Amino acid sequence: MPGDLPETSFGVAFTDTGIYATIYYPRVQQYAKRGIVTQPQIMSHAISHEIGHLLLGPAAHARVGIMRGTWTSADLHSIAMGALLFSPRESKVMREAVIRGVRPGEHSGSPASEGTCLDGCW
Ligand SMILES: [Zn+2]
Repeated sequence: MPGDLPETSFGVAFTDTGIYATIYYPRVQQYAKRGIVTQPQIMSHAISHEIGHLLLGPAAHARVGIMRGTWTSADLHSIAMGALLFSPRESKVMREAVIRGVRPGEHSGSPASEGTCLDGCW
């Protein structure tokens, strides 16, 4: 894991040198031990969040839902219930991005996100 990544980040998405995202599995394991959500639940939502950055851009963090920059304990409970989702607007923009194609470098900045994190949620 990069040393400059916040301790609470699950991953990061890059679009400047190619379109890819990385999920930090040790962080997934660490948060799963808290017992609110399972490793597969955290992993799938972290992957979805980073794919969201690849399609929505680096400034895609929202106040609610799966694109929140910091997941709260309430968000983790929503994950457990399968209820931490993209907004209808985010879903529409992502569908349109897939249809038109996403090119490397289309979004500015590197990394494209600070990753999915849980700062201050406990
Ligand atoms: Zn993010």
